[in-house]
Parts: sequence; C-alpha cells; structure tokens
Amino acid sequence: MDHIQPDTCVMPCSDRTTVESIFRNSQDAIVVTDQERRIVWCNAPFERLIGYRLPELKGQSITRLYAEAEDFDLPSPTALGTEALNGDHSYPMSYVRQDGVVIETETIGWTLQMHDSTPIGHAKIIRDKTEENRISRAKEKLFHLAMEQNINSVEKIDAVLSLACEFLGMPVGLISLLRDDSMAVIQAKSTLAQISPGTRFALRDCDCSLTLAGESPVHVVSREQARPHPLLPQIGQRCYIGVPLMVGDDRVGTLSFLNPLPRASFSTAERDLVTILARFVSQHIANEKRLRALQRAATQDWLTGAGSNRQFHRDLENVFQTVRRNDAQASLILFDIDHFKSINDQYGHDMGDRVLAEIARRAQLAIGPNRKLYRVGGEEFAVILPGSCADSASIMAEQLRQKLAEAADDGKNLPKLTASFGVAELDPDLVTREAWLKCADIALYASKNNGRNRVTSNRMDDNIPTSSERIENTSPTVPNRIDV
Ligand code: GH3
Ligand code: MG
Ligand code: MG
Repeated sequence: MDHIQPDTCVMPCSDRTTVESIFRNSQDAIVVTDQERRIVWCNAPFERLIGYRLPELKGQSITRLYAEAEDFDLPSPTALGTEALNGDHSYPMSYVRQDGVVIETETIGWTLQMHDSTPIGHAKIIRDKTEENRISRAKEKLFHLAMEQNINSVEKIDAVLSLACEFLGMPVGLISLLRDDSMAVIQAKSTLAQISPGTRFALRDCDCSLTLAGESPVHVVSREQARPHPLLPQIGQRCYIGVPLMVGDDRVGTLSFLNPLPRASFSTAERDLVTILARFVSQHIANEKRLRALQRAATQDWLTGAGSNRQFHRDLENVFQTVRRNDAQASLILFDIDHFKSINDQYGHDMGDRVLAEIARRAQLAIGPNRKLYRVGGEEFAVILPGSCADSASIMAEQLRQKLAEAADDGKNLPKLTASFGVAELDPDLVTREAWLKCADIALYASKNNGRNRVTSNRMDDNIPTSSERIENTSPTVPNRIDV
C-alpha cells in the first residue's frame, strides 16, 4: 500500500477494527487511540518509528510518547472540529523513541466516529521529519550566513565549516586548495588535532586527490576503505566525504570532512547539503580571487607585471616624505625605449607588447628582487632608489642600459633596441614629488637629445635644473611625459 493521502482515509468508521484492517499494510506509521488518548492499536511502521511493540503500548496514554511538555495539553482532535474530521489538520509533533532519541514528525490526526457521529477515538498518521527538519535548519543557517553583512569572508567560511562538522557529525572539516602539485589547507576545523592554515599535504594517494580527480560530484568513503589522511596520519580515518571546489570550470580544491570513527552511510540529503556548502565556499574563493585581481590591477601593470603608474606615484610620494623627514638620500631612474614606435611599425603591435613584457622581465632581473620596476607610461619605466645618491643610481642605470642593449644582441627574444635614461637625486631644493619626477624626466630628455642610448643625471649635467623654482621655469618645450 502506498503512502496515505489524508483525504483518502477520511471516513466515518463504525468500529476501530475497520481502521486497523484498512491501515495494517500502510507504509505510514499509524496509531489509534480511544477517547482518553489510550493507545488501542498501531501498525508495524509505527512500532519501528517509536521503538516499542504494540503489546507494550496497548492501554498506555499516547502522551507518554510526547517529547514536549506543552503537547500534553494539545486539544484532542475531537475538539478540532471539522478540520480534523476532514483529515487535513497536520501539525508538527515531537515524540521520544524507546532509545530516548527525540523524533520530529508531521502528525495528521482525525476523529473516528460511529455512523450516528458518536466519537469513538482518534487516529494519527505520523511522518518522520527529523532528517528533513535537520537539513532545513542547516540550510536556513547557511542562508542567514550568506546574508550576514557584519562578518568577513574568513569568518563566514569558518562558520560554514563548523555548521557542516556539526551537521555531519564529523570532527574534521578542511578547505584545501591546489597549489602546484600539492594541496594547501586554507581553513580547517578540527577537534582532533591542530591543523593550521597553510599546512600542505601531498596529493598522492589520499581521498582529497580522489575527490579532486573523481568523476562524481561527491566523493564518499564509508567505513574501512577510507585511507589515512596525510594530515592525520596517527589518528587514521574511517570515513570521508569530499566535494571539489570549482571556480568557473576549474577544480581548484576540495571541501572535505574526515572521521576516525565509522558512521552510518551519508544520506542523499547530507550529500546534497555538502554540495551546497561547497558551492558557497567556491563562490567565496571566486570572489576573493576577483578582489585580489582588482587589487593587483590597481598596483600592477597588466602587460608587464611591473608596478603600475598609480603604485609608482604612491611609492614615490612615500619615499619623498621619508627622505624629507629623515634628511636622507634617494634617487630616481626613468628610462624610455628608443624609437619604440619603429618596433611596432616593423613587427606589429602584438610583437611590441611582447617586447615590452620581455624588457620589463629583464630589467627587473637586472635590478634584483629588492627593487621594484614600475611601468610609468607606454614604453617608459622607473626605479626608485631610497638611500642612493645620483652617482650610485647612475651606475645602476648604466648597468641596466648595457643589459638591455646586450639582451637585444642575443637575438632571442628582443629585436635590436636601446633605451635612454634620466637619473635625478632628490635635491633639497626639489620641494615636491612632481618636481623630483620632472627633474628625472628632463635628464631623460637630455639623453634623448644627446643621441639616445645613454644615461644623464641631474648631478652630471649642469643644464638639468635641480630646484623646483628652476624646473617650473624650464622651457615648456620639454614635455611632461609622465602622467602624474
Ligand atoms: P623615442 O626614442 O623618442 O622615445 O621614440 P619612440 O618611438 O620610442 O617614442 P614615441 O613617443 O614616438 O612612440 C612611443 C611608441 O610606443 C608609440 C606607441 O604606440 C608605443 N606604445 C606605447 N604603449 C604601448 C604598448 O602598450 N604596446 C605597444 N605595442 N606599443 C606601445
Ligand atoms: Mg620611446
Ligand atoms: Mg615614450
């Protein structure tokens, strides 16, 4: 017999045995009580649900099985009138099972009556909603978490891990991302052992790598097949559930839960919920990635990877202020590729782009990892040298000039090219960052005017003004080439 639709079982009954014969084979749990709520009959699904056999229940008040104190005072279905009579009155009700576990149900009650409408008792269909309610509550928590404005994404992910560990009854929850050929833990929850963010583990031969590579959306290992997780080698692992984290079409990591103890197999609803949680985490990872890309775009030039013009001005101002406060030294190198337009003209703009990226790569290599190269304009670059005088900055500029010229000679990645350099030491009379920059630009322009492929510094060339006042008055034919 299929699950009972309440409407189909509404019928005036001349006696309770009719009810019993109708519902004996129902898959739904059915219990019949008399007018005083004493149990007179139940079917096998009710026995299984509640954990008692009919002989143990017979004659007992059904209120003995109620979990909530207030349910003892529930109006009897008789008092509920026609609604109950028509079988469409359903209400949530919690019962205590024989083993003490509380089960949440949807209970549908109606009155049994004789042909002359004399009530003779009540019947209830009881549907176990414990798991469904548990999942609904977890989804509700997740929804509130997603909407929460006052916590940052690390806290949100942390809350997701706690929620999932509690929901699944798993003591360890991990979010790990693929890094080269290993996995790095981004966030973890563990009541077994301390697992710090940043901890790495080998992808080889572990359930996380099977999750990452697997065909199915959820990788589940129940009981003994689960292999020890590399993060918990001493503790072991008896069951595992993991879902790949996706950004676009890419599998970037895993959300996984481990348990050193075996547990009942994961229900479809549990698998679904873990998949939803993984989507939530994936979305946060994608957002973080986008945010980082935006931040990088603001500080890094997209084509060459050098510092952006914006970052250059920010850093130049910082160095300028520090030098002024501490009465220290600093120099600035600007360089511009000579006749770059002809490279575009000769090889095309795409090739021009590749040449710019290669120049930046080589220039950054030449100045070393502790100094930063900036792309301040189309084919113009800069290096800020805190603590350097014009002479040592000029030596570095000269080395750079030679490296670029030589690099072009090796004929591998670069067409033949040279660059012109301007060096400006921060003179006390240069009273603004803009004046310092313009001083370097004038020096660079001097290199261009004197035949290109050379270095000019404001200390070497008396024609380079070294005070803001003189720079202001410098011929307007010197273009301000830098976008300030
Ligand atoms: P000079 O020696 O006087 O500096 O000559 P030049 O040709 O290098 O200078 P000019 O200012 O006449 O031309 C600069 C060229 O650089 C023109 C422009 O199309 C090119 N350029 C600027 N930005 C980019 C870029 O991002 N990619 C490419 N391919 N070319 C660029
Ligand atoms: Mg140029
Ligand atoms: Mg230029």
